[in-house]
Amino acid sequence: MDIPRIFNITESAHRIHDPISAEKLATLGAALRLEPGDLVLDLGSGSGEMLCTWARDHGITGIGVDMSQLFTKQAKKRAEELDVAGQVKFIHDDASGFVSEEKVSVAACVGAAWIGGGIAGTIELLAKSLRPGGIILIGEPYWRQLPPTEDAARACLANAISDFLMLPELLASFGRLGYDVVEMIHSNQDDWDRYEAAKWLTMRRWLEANPGDEFAKEVRAQLTSEPERYVTYTREYLGWGVFALISR
Ligand code: SAH
Repeated sequence: MDIPRIFNITESAHRIHDPISAEKLATLGAALRLEPGDLVLDLGSGSGEMLCTWARDHGITGIGVDMSQLFTKQAKKRAEELDVAGQVKFIHDDASGFVSEEKVSVAACVGAAWIGGGIAGTIELLAKSLRPGGIILIGEPYWRQLPPTEDAARACLANAISDFLMLPELLASFGRLGYDVVEMIHSNQDDWDRYEAAKWLTMRRWLEANPGDEFAKEVRAQLTSEPERYVTYTREYLGWGVFALISR
């Protein structure tokens, strides 16, 4: 079981697979007022940076579930590097339907809300693992500016304008689901650049090392078109944030 290979190629050198910097991830950990021993569940945990650094900085314990073999391997390696392998566990699996045995203080899905079939379904899934009064963390894109056409939305790699909301509507939607928004952190264009532009050098190096690979044509096509697409569309129209929610 694995995610589509293209992501394991383009994001192989990413430590964080989202437009959030290491500094903002640290700010978020502090903002949540985590206590030593708090258990944090992370669905779509990627290369484990959030759980590993929060284990180091706040003494939390964590469970991460991710479908990428490569990212899960990298997460385990990161835990060893930061000397927190005894506190965090990374499971290679499909996280759709995953409910932890023990109730958690924080249940997160940062940049992978398709795991629960969208925001509402993901919140419902995370809530099954959460202790009463615990925090749900959701990382999601929103429109910073509304794209003028459906074509422009597709060029942001959305299926349609209706895939994402503007920020006030996104916050209102959490309210309608019965949650208070109790904290948040947002990406700026520099953060988006770290996530997107970092893929380009990885692709370039990968092409140099794998000229005969069956994926070389696809990677070459992406490297040729991505920089211009990204600065014209995603960088201008898409915002991204992590929202902390507590049930009303
Ligand atoms: N939260 C991480 C990763 C976000 S990228 C971070 O911020 O770094 C989305 C992640 O979801 C990828 O690591 C991908 O491998 C994982 N993923 C995609 N589909 C999944 C599924 N069905 N179950 C578990 N993980 C999945």
